[in-house]
Amino acid sequence: MPSGFSPAFSVVVPCYNEQEVLPIFHQRLSAVMEGIGAPWEVVYVNDGSRDQTLAGMYALAEQDGRVSVVNLSRNFGKEIALTAGLDHARGTRGIIVIDADLQDPPEVIADLVTAWTDDVDTVYARRNTREGESISKRLTAWMFYRVMKRLGNKVVIPPDTGDFRLMSRRLVDSLLLLRERHRFMKGLFAWVGFPSRAVLYDRAPRSAGKSSFNYWSLWNFALEGITSFSVLPLQLSTYMGLGISILAVCYGIWIVGCTLLFGNRVAGYPSLMAVILFLGGIQLMTVGLIGEYVGRIFNETKKRPLYLVEAYRPAQEKERTPEA
Ligand code: UDP
Ligand code: MG
Repeated sequence: MPSGFSPAFSVVVPCYNEQEVLPIFHQRLSAVMEGIGAPWEVVYVNDGSRDQTLAGMYALAEQDGRVSVVNLSRNFGKEIALTAGLDHARGTRGIIVIDADLQDPPEVIADLVTAWTDDVDTVYARRNTREGESISKRLTAWMFYRVMKRLGNKVVIPPDTGDFRLMSRRLVDSLLLLRERHRFMKGLFAWVGFPSRAVLYDRAPRSAGKSSFNYWSLWNFALEGITSFSVLPLQLSTYMGLGISILAVCYGIWIVGCTLLFGNRVAGYPSLMAVILFLGGIQLMTVGLIGEYVGRIFNETKKRPLYLVEAYRPAQEKERTPEA
């Protein structure tokens, strides 16, 4: 890792097809970071964008010596892009994670820094409102946080909190020890622990471009969260199977009893089918559930690198270099 410039703060920004917002974002971010008054860098991670995002990043790096650019070799998804950015962040005091789409207003960073006292390692930004998001998205998000609260046993994920946060160097170093492939960042942030504090903010609607998340990916995201942090679904299927088996045995005894007392009336076909189908369904469900975990074990055991960097251009200087 190139030395020389060691900023106090690093701002990590994963970007996927963000060409429209990037210049505005950088302008607003610079204004805020200047106000804080400590040396800083911003690490833009290009997560295999298919538009001019990378060119935009390089253009910013030309004008501004505090811009680092990490270009991933393809699209790896936000969670991994974020990890790549954290790996390349050189901030010695604090590291800030923020989305590029201006849904997390950069101005809130000033509040995060203000709230960041010696007794806490993380200050996370908690959403006040979800302007511009549909009722159903709000509802699914609400449900997700409540389910996670139930399932995550000791790991408490704060509700209505995204990845937008300020973390201490030691917290990030701990976080980066976790190299698992199925990276549910919200869960990992919570897993490392350390004292934290929340700052409320109003989440703005996306300023340009479009969200790359749809309900299918949200569902997968939720599944990721649940299976990465809980084996309860596995245990659940055990108890469900046990309960159903006990019921089936009772039913069997009842049938035998009836037959012995009243004789065989050869009328068992519908109930037989019902039982077989019911048990078959439960078995399939259980097998599917086990498959979810086996698939994750399979992926983890491959021990592949999380991402590949195509190019890394570190920030050079403390001050803005005037255009030559
Ligand atoms: N992002 C990324 N890789 C992806 C998808 C998204 O780096 O594959 C970035 C994106 O550029 C943005 C942030 O992750 O800075 C959040 O993405 P988005 O706004 O699409 O998510 P939402 O706000 O809807 O949760
Ligand atoms: Mg967004």
